[in-house]
Amino acid sequence: MAHLASYSLMRGQGVSTLMAACAQRLLNAAAAAGAASSPTLLCCGSPSSRPCSSSAAAGPEPDTEVAVIGAGVVGLAIARQLALAGRAVLLLEAAGTFGTETSSRNSEVIHAGLYYPAGSLKARLCVAGKQQLYAFCKQYGVPHRRLGKLLVASSPAQLDALSALAARAAANGVSDLRPLSKSEVGQLEPAVRCEAALLSPSTGIIDSHSYMAELHRQFEEAGGTTAFYSRVVGGAVAGPLKRVRVQDANSGEETELTAGMVVNAAGLHAQAVAADLDGLPAGTIPPLHLAKGSYFSLAAGSLAHIHGSSASGSSASGGSGGGGYRFRHLVYPLPEPGTAGLGTHLTLDLAGGVRFGPDVEWLPPGTDPRTIDYSLSPTQAQPFYAAIRAYLPGLPDDSLEPSYSGVRPKVVGPGQPAGDFVVQGPAEHGVPGLVNLYGIESPGLTASLALAQLAAERLLAPDH
Ligand SMILES: Cc1cc2nc3c(=O)[nH]c(=O)nc-3n(C[C@H](O)[C@H](O)[C@H](O)COP(=O)(O)OP(=O)(O)OC[C@H]3O[C@@H](n4cnc5c(N)ncnc54)[C@H](O)[C@@H]3O)c2cc1C
Repeated sequence: MAHLASYSLMRGQGVSTLMAACAQRLLNAAAAAGAASSPTLLCCGSPSSRPCSSSAAAGPEPDTEVAVIGAGVVGLAIARQLALAGRAVLLLEAAGTFGTETSSRNSEVIHAGLYYPAGSLKARLCVAGKQQLYAFCKQYGVPHRRLGKLLVASSPAQLDALSALAARAAANGVSDLRPLSKSEVGQLEPAVRCEAALLSPSTGIIDSHSYMAELHRQFEEAGGTTAFYSRVVGGAVAGPLKRVRVQDANSGEETELTAGMVVNAAGLHAQAVAADLDGLPAGTIPPLHLAKGSYFSLAAGSLAHIHGSSASGSSASGGSGGGGYRFRHLVYPLPEPGTAGLGTHLTLDLAGGVRFGPDVEWLPPGTDPRTIDYSLSPTQAQPFYAAIRAYLPGLPDDSLEPSYSGVRPKVVGPGQPAGDFVVQGPAEHGVPGLVNLYGIESPGLTASLALAQLAAERLLAPDH
């Protein structure tokens, strides 16, 4: 029998086409098996011709065993995890390809797990996810670099905060931090000015698009089926047979499909998707607060001036910024207490390009994520210069160019203590066969493989 995963190649076709083709294939298979109509034979996307084994076993068979909503890095990782576990998975994505929202609008940093409160999901899944991600990148050739990060105290007043961060990291199981004196930092990064620093050797960078492409490839290879241009617009999840209403983004046509289980990994839209699922107690849906973060990149040629005339100790030229200085590490200031980000840091891409950000700009309460304006204006650069020069005094005037922005899906608002990832399964919301993920901001890319494991565990927990 031909592999049903081939349907995922039908980019530009929505779920109605997909399901029709899937149903036809089921009928063909049934006819070939001598049973005129037996839609219970197969699940759409099942890697083999085994029956669906879902929570709907006693009732009518679903169209797919699991429907995963959202093909960002987290939805992809979950879909892959479930497909590799032998589940028949249909991945529903509103856009025309994977990873077009927050997963392609971030710093692409593999975080070490320094910042998050001990015992939080962010701490646990970042530390576990980091190790899994490095192993994944190595095994499957995903471009990445473990270049390390300097966490700098820019004034004597910040030294205590640096020590506190080292203690927090240790509590999270990050034991490889190295304290550095001012002169040791000068050896490593002559352009950086600080009082002292911590070196985090396990922080790195990753080509997130290649990573997502590899997750998707493995998902398909394991028999998963993808429907792009397929926006989930509602459903009913109370019973064992979940109903999911899907709108074809091209035709506007709506289709209803059934699934034994549903995972909502819709990122910025997870709350809206959840609110449209009949049978999910509305009180379990956390609030959504949107915090935009913008990046500026270092203009071409600026690296030649970054260290002024005293470029001694600077290394060979490289990167998109032109000749002269070359950064070897990511450089992070200490997070400002009470702000919602990690500070305007210096990140590098795999080609050596330098960018700074993200800042924190709270969007008005109630902003519909579908209306987000991701543009940024050159005038936003002014506060960046001040923030960056606290650790990089040689940053030349007029060297920053608008780059891109992303938006953090937060479950807490301005001035509140940082929120955690929220991964709700039956134990949390009372609906068997449903997992909702909310607030998957940073370090969601780093934690993606660990988040996938947790989501799969909660979805498949024996009592559901
Ligand atoms: C500024 C910024 C910097 C960051 N930096 C880092 C970093 O350096 N390291 C790190 O580890 N993490 C970082 N993160 C966090 C990381 O980017 C996110 O945690 C991660 O990308 C979230 O992935 P996701 O799959 O949950 O969401 P998304 O990537 O947003 O994917 C959700 C998908 O669901 C789809 N969708 C939405 N609604 C529907 C619907 N109704 N039907 C079907 N599909 C739907 C969307 O089209 C989208 O493709 C950063 C985030 C931001 C905003």
